[in-house]
Amino acid sequence: MPGGVSSPVRAFRSVGGQPIVFDRVKGPYAWDVDGNRFIDYVGTWGPAICGHAHPEVTEALHESLEKGTSFGAPCELENQLAEMVIEAVPSVEMVRFVNSGTEACMAVLRLMRAFTGRDKVIKFEGCYHGHADMFLVKAGSGVATLGLPDSPGVPRSTTANTLTAPYNDLEAVKALFAENPDAISGVILEPVVGNAGFITPEPGFLEGLRELTKEHGALLVFDEVMTGFRISYGGAQERFGVTPDLTTMGKVIGGGLPVGAYGGRADIMAMVAPAGPMYQAGTLSGNPLAMTAGIKTLELLKQEGTYERLESTTKKLLQGILAAAKEAGLPITGSSISAMFGFYLCEGPVRNFEEAKSTDTERFGKLHRAMLERGVYLAPSAFEAGFTSLAHSEADIEATLQAFRESFATIS
Ligand SMILES: *Cc1c(COP(=O)(O)O)cnc(C)c1O
Repeated sequence: MPGGVSSPVRAFRSVGGQPIVFDRVKGPYAWDVDGNRFIDYVGTWGPAICGHAHPEVTEALHESLEKGTSFGAPCELENQLAEMVIEAVPSVEMVRFVNSGTEACMAVLRLMRAFTGRDKVIKFEGCYHGHADMFLVKAGSGVATLGLPDSPGVPRSTTANTLTAPYNDLEAVKALFAENPDAISGVILEPVVGNAGFITPEPGFLEGLRELTKEHGALLVFDEVMTGFRISYGGAQERFGVTPDLTTMGKVIGGGLPVGAYGGRADIMAMVAPAGPMYQAGTLSGNPLAMTAGIKTLELLKQEGTYERLESTTKKLLQGILAAAKEAGLPITGSSISAMFGFYLCEGPVRNFEEAKSTDTERFGKLHRAMLERGVYLAPSAFEAGFTSLAHSEADIEATLQAFRESFATIS
């Protein structure tokens, strides 16, 4: 396997050391093949918001498994999950299930172009929308970690239609609209960025994009593959009160199985085959096993007090990390929302990818190794958000903060 892995960031290239081979996961923990236990803040890159291998999810999966893993035909569970997504996410009136976030973003881009009859798209530096050709421009963590501005094999003619702007910079977006009249199909972004570390939208940014797109007859698309059902039950769009035209989802809605989805305004989604002419299909899309994991996960998240708990656990962790670094005399800046957090080893503030790059990546590598030695697994890149779950207890957070205090002391 290239690099020994099935996805690049897992190879630890940017933090040094050898990747860990895991054997099993449960709750907030992961165990490697040598039997070492780690408190896990990667959460399989987002899906494990209820904790790994939650007994209710596992039990539902066992039951579903007995009825077969894939029908290649409509199943009732798809309707159930579709109804849950439509009820939860403000922008979604109609939804199509696919098998990954990448697939959802590829399809939504085709839909943006099909609906508007325009070919160009605006994305932001440091935002990741999966690995489709047109999005591999200034695409954040995975690509940044490898030091590739984009990827060979992506034709220049493909990315010629991809315009980029710095995150949180409305003026830059205004200028792009002015330079490309009636040519831009829409703007796609992570409403809270998790693929360039952790960057929050400044007040007025999301609202400004909503107005600008409307004014220019373009679509606004929130890529909520990471933030959906994590920033709040209805995603970042619910939390910030800005409703896009289309939304992509993944990670949490699959509850640890391969699922993605895109949805939005019914008049736009009616373009998708077979309701309309825009082709998109999938052999395993909407399979009963994946739908089951998604339904169970959303049921657990819907319970009262879930997001308050996630918010307070994460805040306690992040505040503790900032305090520990300051105590050790190290520059740090960071923040958290709900079950997502991030910090940079620099003075800050960090409002875009350019500023994120002032983080001390070498020091982060040392920190990463020191934390592993103390039984804490952080994402192996300075440009990835961290994730907490409902399974992380006060004791886990305390143990993690103790590890941070010791680790910061060794690297200062
Ligand atoms: C992870 C991610 C994707 C890609 O999803 P995959 O399931 O890995 O293909 C797309 N957009 C965002 C914002 C993501 O975080």
